[in-house]
Amino acid sequence: MFLEPSFKGQRSGWIEVVCGSMFSGKTEELIRRLKRAKIANMSVGIFKPRIDTRYDEEKVVSHDANFIMSTPVEKSMDILRYADKFNVIGIDEAQFFDLELTEVCQTLALRGKRIIIAGLDMDFRGVPFGPIPHLLAVAEYITKVHAICPHCGNLATHSYRLSVEEQTVLLGEKDAYEPRCRTCYQMGNILDLRMPVEEQNSKGN
Ligand code: ZN
Repeated sequence: MFLEPSFKGQRSGWIEVVCGSMFSGKTEELIRRLKRAKIANMSVGIFKPRIDTRYDEEKVVSHDANFIMSTPVEKSMDILRYADKFNVIGIDEAQFFDLELTEVCQTLALRGKRIIIAGLDMDFRGVPFGPIPHLLAVAEYITKVHAICPHCGNLATHSYRLSVEEQTVLLGEKDAYEPRCRTCYQMGNILDLRMPVEEQNSKGN
C-alpha cells in the first residue's frame, strides 16, 4: 500500500505513477489517494483526456463504480491552465494523453504540486502506452498494480483484447478486454483461450 511521504519543510512537488493492466485497480488506487489528500485538507484537481467518455464526462469512475469528479481536457497543456489553484493533481487514463504530458507534470512538480497519474502501462499488443513509459522514468514513486489472470490465477500484467478491432484506442469493458498473466497472454496469441473460464474448467483443464 502506498503511504504518503512526509516532506516537512520541503516545498517541492513530486510525481507518482500508478500503472498496470486493465482491471488492475489503477483508478481505484488513484481515487483512494485523492480522497486521502482531501482529508488532509489539500485542494485536489482531477483531469482526464476527453477521449474517455465511457461512463460520464465529469467523473473519474473505477470499474467498481467508485468515482470522483474530474475535468475532461483536450490535451495535456490544458492541465497547466487549470492546475494553479490545486495542491494535488490527479490524472486518470493518462496513456491517452499526448507525449507533452511528461513535461506538463514536471513543470507542475517544480511548482510544488503533488501529481498522481494513473494509466495503462501497455496497450493490448504489450507495447508501452503513450506517455506512460516517460512518466515512469521521471516519477519519484511508481506503483504497479495487478489484476488476476482468470485462466491460471497468477498475477495479471497484460490486457488481452477479446475483440478483433485493430485500433489501439478501444475503450474497453469486460467484453472487450481480459487481464492475463504473461504466459496466458502469450498463449492467447497462439491458441484460442477465449472460451469462458467455466467451460475450460468443465473440460477438466
Ligand atoms: Zn495466466
